[in-house]
Parts: sequence; structure tokens; C-alpha cells
Amino acid sequence: MLLTITTTHVPATDLGYLLGKHPDRFQTFPLPFGQAHVFFPEAREDSCTAALLLDIDQMGLVRGRPDRIAKGGPASSKGGLFGQYVTDRAYAASSLMSVALARVFSSALKGTCRDRPELAESALPLSAEVAVLPCRDGEGLLQRLFEPLGYNVTLRPLPLDERFPEWGEGRHYQVSLSGTLRLCELLSHLYVLIPVIDDEKHYWVGQDELGKLIEHARGWLEKHPEQELITLRYLKHQRLLSRQALASLTPEKESEIHFGDDPERNMDRPISGKAEDALEQRISLNEHRIDAVVGVLKKLGARRIVDLGCGEGRLLRALLMEREFERITGMDVSLSALDRARRRLRLDEGSAGQSERINLFQGSLIYRDKRLEGFDAACILEVIEHLDPDRLAAFERSIFGLARPKAVIVTTPNADHNALFPSLSPGQFRHHDHRFEWSRAEFANWTQEVARRYGYTVGLAGIGHEDVHLGPPTQMGVFTLCA
Ligand code: SAH
Repeated sequence: MLLTITTTHVPATDLGYLLGKHPDRFQTFPLPFGQAHVFFPEAREDSCTAALLLDIDQMGLVRGRPDRIAKGGPASSKGGLFGQYVTDRAYAASSLMSVALARVFSSALKGTCRDRPELAESALPLSAEVAVLPCRDGEGLLQRLFEPLGYNVTLRPLPLDERFPEWGEGRHYQVSLSGTLRLCELLSHLYVLIPVIDDEKHYWVGQDELGKLIEHARGWLEKHPEQELITLRYLKHQRLLSRQALASLTPEKESEIHFGDDPERNMDRPISGKAEDALEQRISLNEHRIDAVVGVLKKLGARRIVDLGCGEGRLLRALLMEREFERITGMDVSLSALDRARRRLRLDEGSAGQSERINLFQGSLIYRDKRLEGFDAACILEVIEHLDPDRLAAFERSIFGLARPKAVIVTTPNADHNALFPSLSPGQFRHHDHRFEWSRAEFANWTQEVARRYGYTVGLAGIGHEDVHLGPPTQMGVFTLCA
């Protein structure tokens, strides 16, 4: 597990003072799960690099499982015995890296520097490289986490096995970040975000982790557009703790945070056993949806895309990250949602390249609208259930009949799955504004009927953790226009 930090501030060897480590020395620090080595592969006037190499005791990890059970929580049996020995834990950056950062660079992380206090206060040209960072959620998440912090982010997906390139890429990335900021900011970002990205879930967290998050995230998390995701994941999906963290970082915003409102999000309390795996998946259901839709759009080779009922623009943002999507349009009936989307996408700040690719407008799905014509694909995510059933036919006509994109992707809740949400009573919908929620059979009927009537073919897929009996939480229909 390797992390390097480089500066080109002159004299670059000041990095040694900042980290409290002499550039000529090779130092080793014992950790509960192995050793950390610190050394400087280069120490020149114009460029200096410090390396933190973690040498994990893999057998010790399995025996003691410090990342999982040292804090008294339940150990996971996921992966069985084989999984315990053959894992990426020894080389891929995880919460162990954060533990090492706090132990080895404690004063730098706090922003203090005994010999050169003014250096610790200054923004310097810095870059960091994490050799192997596991991210099941793909490149989009890495960008969404680091770019808002002002970094230039370079990602290199790593092949599953260098010897067999034909196996393709896995879920590991070499991540390079560069920017001009204080060293303590860079270290705090890594300290918090590495475990968030790794998202290894099965250990116990308590008030001490909450305290660490508040200590290291103050000053940046309150402005981060992904603050909810970061807090939930850092705190291992515990809703109450996340609420406390956000309330303490952004007291003025507490009233806007409604973790309790949406059963799809209300799943992060400590629960044990099999149910935990199933339920935790739903926390990031929204991310799964976006990943699934982006995947379909890429497969279809779509370049001009419209997101109908785009809401706050979560999908739009993911689309912007992918260069192959040339024209990205968002439409919503709600002006305030469009405003939030504009802010989320920073459209008013006007990065010229971006504003050429994207535009947003107010409109409704149920009226004919010329602006909706000429797209390769229309995405309608979690919107149809907001329409009154007697308006569905008008919606079908305006989109499938008149706008006629080459493909239409529709997602909607699977009502069969609702029985698995403990906060929902029988027959209750997931959101107070939903007008209906369809079972798998109802959705299948509707998609087939629409496809037949308007000359599309349709395929169905599930999104999120699939229950053997009740299916996935979200269902998706992918319609393609018949030639
Ligand atoms: N697609 C987004 C938002 C889903 S919430 C996401 O997946 O995150 C539903 C959205 O549909 C809301 O933003 C709401 O304003 C919008 N909406 C509801 N009725 C609409 C209509 N008739 N035309 C366009 N948008 C509509």
C-alpha cells in the first residue's frame, strides 16, 4: 500500500519540515497491523517526494482482523475462509492507510509544523498519488469526490492482472491528485476519503469515529456537494451518527437534511447478519441507478441525451464526466429543482467547455415539446411514479409517440420489494409524492404495452440488491426504437 506526496514549492525539501521527517532518513513505525515506512525517493530543490509505504501483516490481519473487530463489532463472514486470505487488503488503500497517516504524520495532519509554522499555513503546489485505490463505484465517484475540492484528478484503471491484460480492468485505480493547498488539507482529504471510497463496511464505528470525522472534515466537508454520501460512508452507514456529524459541521443546514424521509436511505442503522448486507446496498441505490443508466447509455452508443425530470441533476453530473456524451439536456417541471441542478453543476460559474455541452430547461413530460426531439436517448429516472395515473397516456404519447428518441430508459420503484423496508407499512409508498408504485408484473405489462403501441422493443433489468423472492429495489426498462 503506497502513498506518495510531492511538492514543487521551492525549496521543495521543505516538505521534510512539513511532515516532520528528514528527507535523508528511512524511518519505520510499528502499527497494530504491520509497519509503516517513510522515505523520500527524491529530495531536490525543485521537487521533493515523500513516500508512505504500508507493509501489512496479512496473516495478522486475518488473525486479529484489526480493521473489523478490534473495536468490538461483529466480524463479517463474507468471502469465507478463502476470502479472508485472498483479498486486496494488503496492497489496496483503505482505512488502514488513514490509521497510518494519523499515526505517522500526526502534526502535519493537524496543520502544525514546529520548525516552519508559516509553511503549514501556506497553500503550496502539492500532488499525491495513491498507487492502488479500490473503488467499486467506478471513476465517476472518484471524480465527484476529489474535483469539488479543487484537484486535478488523473485516474488510471488498473488491470485485474498485469500478466493477463485480456482479463480487463478491475475496480482498482491509480489515483493522482494535484492542486495548490495546505498540506494539512491534502492529508485530511485523504484521511477521510480513502475509507469512503473503499467503503469496506463491516466494522463497528462509534462516537470516536464521529469525532475524527468532525476533526478532519471541518472546513471542507460542509461545502462538499457529496457531504451526505461522505458522512454516511465514513460512518459505515449509520444514519444517526451521520446526522450528528452533518449537524455539527453545518448547524444551519440541519433542517434541510431529511435522512428519515426516504426509506431507501433510511437503512443505515446498526443491524446484524444477512439483512445488513441487503439493506446497506440501498444506501447507494441512487448511485447504482446512475451507474446502471450510464452503462446502458454507453452500450447503446448514445451521444445526445436528455434527462427528463432531471431533479437536482445527479445523472447530469455523471453524464458530464463522460466525454462521449456530446449533448446533455436536463428538463424538469420544477424551477427550484433546476436551480439546485444549476448550482450542483456549477453552470453559473460557467466553465466554457461545460456550458456548451449542457443545457437545462423547464418543461413537462406530458405536453408535446419540440425541444425534446432529436435525442439518441431519453432517461426518465424515478419520475413516472410522480405522474397521476390518468396522465400516463399523455406522457407516453409525448415521449414515445412524438419526441421519439432512439432509446428510452425508465426506472421506477419495484413495489414488491417494499416489504423489505422496515419503515414502510404495507401498501405505503416510498415517498409521499408518489402516485403509484408498480410491482414487477405491472411494470412488465406497462413496458410491453407501450413498446408495442409505439414501435419499440423493450428489455427489463433490476438495479440494486436483488432479493430472491421480492426482486431488486429499482426496476429499469430499456426501450429501443425498432428500425
Ligand atoms: N430523476 C431525478 C429526480 C427524481 S424526483 C433523480 O433520479 O434523482 C422526480 C422529479 O420529476 C422531480 O424533480 C419532479 O420535479 C419531476 N417531475 C415530476 N412531474 C414532472 C413532469 N410532469 N414533467 C417533468 N418533470 C416532472
